[in-house]
Amino acid sequence: MSSLSDGIQNALLNIFIVYSCFTFYFKFIEGKTTPLTSKIMVTLVSAVSIIFCMSFPIINSAGHTPDFRQIPLIVGALYGGRRVAIVLTVVMLTYRFYLDIPHFHMALLIYSLLLISIIFIIPFFQNAVNMRRKVQLAAIAALFGSGSRMALMFFFDSEKTDVEYLIVFVTILLTQLLGVVSFVIVNERTRQSALLSREVLKLEKLRTVSELAASISHEVRNPLTVTKGFVQLLREPGLSDAEKKMYAETALEALDKAEATITEYLTFAKPSLEDVKILDLHQEIIHMRNFVDSYAAMNSVEIEMNLTADIYIAGEDKKLHQCLINVMKNGIEAMPGGGKLRIDLCHIASNAIITVTDTGIGMNKEQLDRLGNPFFTTKDIGTGLGTMVVYSIVKAMGGRIKVDSEVGKGTRFTIFFPAVEQAVQSPMEASNKLFSPLVQHQE
Ligand code: ADP
Ligand code: MG
Repeated sequence: MSSLSDGIQNALLNIFIVYSCFTFYFKFIEGKTTPLTSKIMVTLVSAVSIIFCMSFPIINSAGHTPDFRQIPLIVGALYGGRRVAIVLTVVMLTYRFYLDIPHFHMALLIYSLLLISIIFIIPFFQNAVNMRRKVQLAAIAALFGSGSRMALMFFFDSEKTDVEYLIVFVTILLTQLLGVVSFVIVNERTRQSALLSREVLKLEKLRTVSELAASISHEVRNPLTVTKGFVQLLREPGLSDAEKKMYAETALEALDKAEATITEYLTFAKPSLEDVKILDLHQEIIHMRNFVDSYAAMNSVEIEMNLTADIYIAGEDKKLHQCLINVMKNGIEAMPGGGKLRIDLCHIASNAIITVTDTGIGMNKEQLDRLGNPFFTTKDIGTGLGTMVVYSIVKAMGGRIKVDSEVGKGTRFTIFFPAVEQAVQSPMEASNKLFSPLVQHQE
């Protein structure tokens, strides 16, 4: 009774180990590393499984020890290739020799024959394009494996009747078939779904690129048409100086808008920093406030600031400006009937923290989730790119963003940048400082 429960226990343990080893391999290694590493790893997981199965056989009777060793041997060989098959057979035979199981020479002969038959199947298996073919080939390999076991068994126990032999053969065949075929099916399904999700990702990228291209041409064409119109007007004879000046200024303004749009797209496409400097956040924020002041006044928005002095970060000034402007502009635009935009700057632990709080319309959960995705906008003339640019700049500068919002109450953008200590550092030190905290934030 106890040997039966031991047998069941060992069988379950064998299944668990083989399953865990191969799941680990198929999930984390296969297709994610170089072919050589993949081969080494499949050899390792198969060898570990084989040794484990042999160390804890299901029944241990008269030197004959049925176990699941052939399952990792066959699966490892089919996916690893011929060399892996040879290594695994050698590992198995060496361990068998070490365990001092009788009839070694017979085992050597029979497993060599099995190896030859598997080596013959491997290229067909690896070149098979559909799952059904792979399953068929794996089943043939399992059949050969079961045949070899039966042949060996004959030497251990030649007393059995034909019916007993048949029962044992069917049991071995079914177990091995089930083991090998289920591994192949699970692995092929995993591969197919990984392939599918890679394809979907590629398509998604392609779609974003084409949407971006469509949007760029639209956004740039409008100001260019305006410029063209005014330059044509400038050619008209008899214009007064004031008229000429007005036309030229309007044309230039439109060109500025086209340029700004292109810059925004390019910043997203290329968020890496080019000219890293130490930036005094206090000064930068005041500078940017001047930029948005008239826009705020136009929307009856009052700007309030509470800035701590002497907080420095490493980054590129133009990108920081773009980032702050986008956040402040969104805050102002969220308050169509006027309100208060509050900007705070403080230093906590190793972080320089900028918060931009508005008393505007706020966002619901769904809008918050979509924030930062390209083309998400709730505005009639919005591009839905501003926040995406903010996220990509902050990430490039080693920072992170937290957004809190409540519909009807307002929104708070909190931007954390890794602070640097002194303003008197070289640009080289600045960029070094910048990239070490980057690792911290990715924890
Ligand atoms: P755009 O401003 O062109 O719409 P953004 O990427 O800057 O594009 O913003 C995307 C959307 O996120 C906005 O349309 C708006 O719905 C929402 N949003 C961003 N900032 C705020 C804010 N401070 N308050 C409320 N909604 C905001
Ligand atoms: Mg915006």
